[in-house]
Amino acid sequence: MEAKIKQEFNKRFNGEQGTLYASAGRINLIGEHTDYNGGFVFPGAIDKVIMAEIAPNGTDKVRVFSIDINEYAEFGLKESDAPEQQWARYIFGVCREILKRGGSVKGFDAVFAGNVPLGAGLSSSAALESCFAFALNDMFNGNTIDKFELAKIGQSTEHNYCGVNCGIMDQFASVFGKKDHLMRLDCRSMEYEYFPFKIDGYKLVLVDSKVKHALVDSPYNKRRQSCERVAAKLGIETLRDATKEALDAVRGEISAEDYFRAKFVIEEKDRVLAVCDALEKGDCETVGQKMYETHAGLSKDYEVSCEELDYLNDVAKECGVTGSRIMGGGFGGCTINLVKDDLYDNFITTVTRKFAEKYGHEPVIYPVVISDGARRVEE
Ligand code: ADP
Ligand code: MG
Repeated sequence: MEAKIKQEFNKRFNGEQGTLYASAGRINLIGEHTDYNGGFVFPGAIDKVIMAEIAPNGTDKVRVFSIDINEYAEFGLKESDAPEQQWARYIFGVCREILKRGGSVKGFDAVFAGNVPLGAGLSSSAALESCFAFALNDMFNGNTIDKFELAKIGQSTEHNYCGVNCGIMDQFASVFGKKDHLMRLDCRSMEYEYFPFKIDGYKLVLVDSKVKHALVDSPYNKRRQSCERVAAKLGIETLRDATKEALDAVRGEISAEDYFRAKFVIEEKDRVLAVCDALEKGDCETVGQKMYETHAGLSKDYEVSCEELDYLNDVAKECGVTGSRIMGGGFGGCTINLVKDDLYDNFITTVTRKFAEKYGHEPVIYPVVISDGARRVEE
């Protein structure tokens, strides 16, 4: 990828040379639907990145070529200069959000490419934003914008320029990612802690069902409303502060649906903490067990799974996979699986064959390794 980018940059920009930057996609080991409840998430950056070569060009224009989409875009830096292409709006948005915060961005030339699968739940968009946010901070701001602000710049880009009302986890993971470490982010205080992710003898692999169920009413908003109703009933701000005992005490006064939604959120918070403890002890078996519990909770209590994802989970269990669960909001997308090395090949072959037999298409397999996030690529 690096060579391809350099060659293209050299060709497009008359033998000029820029600096290489990269940022990563992410996984979330555990902690689902916890962010808007003030709970914990536990993401890590992966070995799939967006990489860009960038050089200031002395003008007030940004000129950028996307190798993967094979398109060129050119735009100014004023609010009214927004480009048409969706991919370019991510870059424009990052420039604008830096400027809005009083930072500096001048014209630059860029060529970029990536290997984060698009729309598979690995956050290729956050990788793209974080790569440019990190680069423009390094290039035009002497790295004076702190890393949390870089993540927020990516998040605001999604909100204000791409129409995606996302949380902070994806950009946080992409910016802060560290090789062989996961990060427990407290979505209430925004404090975070690195945990070594040493899984010798195991691999992490995503299995993408390639299905996306379009649902009539917004199930996401309905889940949020359930959580808010229960929190209000308990007299607390978010379910982060709820206990199972407190929930059980009001069980007769709330709907069964709200009860099970809140039950999942409360249990999921404890599971994240349990997984962190287990990792510190090198206990991958407990990590895996908690992943299965999360899947069951997402499927039965939170009701955001679907037939295909439940099937992937069942096949993982049959194959002796240590841990497996839906990753992401649900209703389609990937499962994340923690698999012993010696079972890995069999699992991949079996899940591919069985899923294809049942649903008529093969799932896509993404092995992932926990790696560094946003960075300048050393040459
Ligand atoms: P994801 O879950 O992968 O973040 P999104 O729909 O949020 O999916 O973001 C995908 C969008 O990000 C693409 O439509 C494209 O605009 C942009 N993007 C991601 N990766 C690339 C890439 N390698 N080259 C160009 N644009 C990219
Ligand atoms: Mg995205």
